[in-house]
Amino acid sequence: MSSGPGDVLQLIRRNGANTRRDIQNVTGLSRVTVAQRIDALLSARLIRESGEGEATGGRRPNRLVFDVRHSALAVATVDTAHSRVAITDLSGRILDHALVDVAIEEGPDTVLAALAQGMTSLMSRIGADISQLSGSGISIPGPVDPHTRRPSQPPIMPGWDAYPIADRFAEVLPVPTFVENDADAMAFGEQSTAYPESNSLCLVKVSTGIGAGLVLGGSVYHGIDGGAGDIGHIRLAGETALCQCGSRGCLAAVASGRAVAMELAQRGFATKSGRDVKELLDSGNVDALALTHEAGRRIGEVMATVVSMVNPGVLVISGDLASSALLGGLRETLYPRSLARATRNLDVRLSTLADDAGLIGMARIVSDSLFSAAAVNTRLL
Ligand SMILES: [Zn+2]
Repeated sequence: MSSGPGDVLQLIRRNGANTRRDIQNVTGLSRVTVAQRIDALLSARLIRESGEGEATGGRRPNRLVFDVRHSALAVATVDTAHSRVAITDLSGRILDHALVDVAIEEGPDTVLAALAQGMTSLMSRIGADISQLSGSGISIPGPVDPHTRRPSQPPIMPGWDAYPIADRFAEVLPVPTFVENDADAMAFGEQSTAYPESNSLCLVKVSTGIGAGLVLGGSVYHGIDGGAGDIGHIRLAGETALCQCGSRGCLAAVASGRAVAMELAQRGFATKSGRDVKELLDSGNVDALALTHEAGRRIGEVMATVVSMVNPGVLVISGDLASSALLGGLRETLYPRSLARATRNLDVRLSTLADDAGLIGMARIVSDSLFSAAAVNTRLL
């Protein structure tokens, strides 16, 4: 087993060992080597000693913890009508955040410039400067190529296909930038903060479109081409509605926020997006509630296959349409159509992190990459 300072840092970060003695026991390294590793991590300010002199009662002194204030991260979640930006610590805790009013169809150059500007003003609002940033992360509502980390034929992002987001963004904000699919970032945010005990989680985001993110064995599962979780374009038997992708009968064509908004518009409501539907749901509108319930039933049909295949511990429903109406409909079709074993211990929940899930997940993805064992060993050895 490799046992450089980066490996010791991982033990400390994951609470596998938090004292010099425990690190010695777990790694089998000598006392002297452990001391050297700890000194290297302390002088790089990646860890700090906690417990000593703190009025926390039973805590042991000289406990070593990851210093989540070592540096800050700038993250963004790009969505169709607007984006959100945040500055976080290295644990993904949001220090400050803001809405950025820029539509995805304005293209990558305009959107990235707006994100960088938003992040820069947040930094000055919290009294930090760029030298304190160690990385940034951007989630997008489309598939990401797992090899190039560029958008891969995103259906609702005109002008973004194969765009080098990370390279271009580094020109305006000179720190390493990571790109992730939005549902994947949200799934990781939910799993790593709300359900750390369950290492297998599926998140379905129902906003203007529909997407899903999978965390398997504690890591985001992308699939070989970044297509894992792309459930919006699974065809439903007997449906003929035209989808934005050009096909007919897709789940997104009948059960997305856009589909519900179009149906509501035909009934005389001024609805276009998932967000418009959310406003009606929040006000208790009966048409919106009934249509969202039906959308939930259709999503449940597809999710029955997904949970039978993956057998996750948690299924989180997120996005603009996440509501008890949607959850109720989903349960009506999910349970009868799934194998009992697949749902016996399945926790089906509405997201509690809501919009923050993507920001927190993105920050944790960046933090895990920047402070991985290999990355830290390279920097410190
Ligand atoms: Zn489609």
